[in-house]
Amino acid sequence: MSTASPLRTAEIIAVGSELLGTARLDTNSLLLTEQLASMGIEVLTKHVVGDHRATLAQVFREARARSDLIVFTGGLGPTDDDLTRDVVADVLGRAMDIDEAIVEKIRARFTRRGMRMPDVNRRQAQVPRGATVLDNPNGTAPGLLIDDDHRVVVLLPGPPREMKPMFEKLAAGALAARAGAERVYTASLFITGRSESDVEQTVQPIYSRWRDATPPIVTTILAAMGQIELHLSLRAADGAKGPAEVSRARDELARALGDDVYSTDGRMMPEVVGDLLRTGGYSFAAAESCTGGLLLSRLTDVPGSSDYVHGGIVAYDNDAKIAWLDVPRALIAQHGAVSEPVAIAMAEGIRALTGADVAVAITGIAGPGGGTPEKPVGTVVIAVLAPERAAYVRTYSFLGGRDMVKFQSTQAALDRVRRMIA
Ligand code: AMP
Ligand code: MG
Repeated sequence: MSTASPLRTAEIIAVGSELLGTARLDTNSLLLTEQLASMGIEVLTKHVVGDHRATLAQVFREARARSDLIVFTGGLGPTDDDLTRDVVADVLGRAMDIDEAIVEKIRARFTRRGMRMPDVNRRQAQVPRGATVLDNPNGTAPGLLIDDDHRVVVLLPGPPREMKPMFEKLAAGALAARAGAERVYTASLFITGRSESDVEQTVQPIYSRWRDATPPIVTTILAAMGQIELHLSLRAADGAKGPAEVSRARDELARALGDDVYSTDGRMMPEVVGDLLRTGGYSFAAAESCTGGLLLSRLTDVPGSSDYVHGGIVAYDNDAKIAWLDVPRALIAQHGAVSEPVAIAMAEGIRALTGADVAVAITGIAGPGGGTPEKPVGTVVIAVLAPERAAYVRTYSFLGGRDMVKFQSTQAALDRVRRMIA
């Protein structure tokens, strides 16, 4: 039975005992929450439930009393501990029929792999009366969609690579039709070189005007590692006006923040810097000490980074800096390994060795040991050489543990490259 009132609220029930411990993390609900939000459907709560019949039934009953849309993931397998289908049919008081068309599809999957379908797989062909079967091209368990009075109940398989395409198809089809016309449109800005309060001070007078607009635009500020993020969202029924309004708002904030905004399209720092290197036709090399290769690791996480990443060296101890990067021993003796002259010498060394256009060096004290009163833990020196630009070198003081110091060092280095070649 289809309904007149649109789906506005949802909850997610992730099923599987393995999700309760460290063996597997429930990632499905994260993805679903984001996609439902973009459809204007608010996820009120989510549950992770072990393979336990009575508990699963109880959680489902509570969900029915609360939410318009209930999405299960997992527990659709062929084995005895896969209970989702059974429990849902039970609670809804619907009989289940074996769908022979599904049996044949599952049998065909086994035949393609040269195997006989075990009888237990017939369980996966059980369909509660009145349910719509959702085809699963990536696995054996089909999904199910059930109209339950004004509610909709959806059962999706657990493996993310099966769940995701099935949900996307559903979101574009059957669920889009029931979600109503409103969608949530979002935009984000990623910012470096400013504190959260500094960003707030600059943007607050702007975004506070939007709170009472119709429709309102909601702005959130998040302090993340190595960057401040501004997230905008706007709920609108107009598929042309919504995106235009949120983009206009984003651009106004970007103008107010200037160069400190490094991304307005969701790209993260390594991607932004990579794109600039590619556009400029620059090759890149790094000499890393305290970051142990993290800078090049982050840059090479981006597909296609071989277009611009030439290579690098992790020169961790003094002998490595001297032997591989030609840093004069006397320079280290005079200034220390964590110093501006040594950082410059490292950058010059890696540039001479590789012939790269853009060269970065990072040397610092990641902690927890090794700090001194003059150079406490978190002292990091970054040098950057780029064509037709004066050499850059600066001493930073980062806060936090070892991980944070290392990450912030790479972020500051990439950000400097961005500002020098943009
Ligand atoms: P099931 O449908 O319960 O047989 O789940 C099959 C497999 O999918 C599990 O062993 C997990 O590896 C994976 N899986 C199930 N639920 C989730 C979830 N919520 N997030 C991520 N992976 C999951
Ligand atoms: Mg399971």
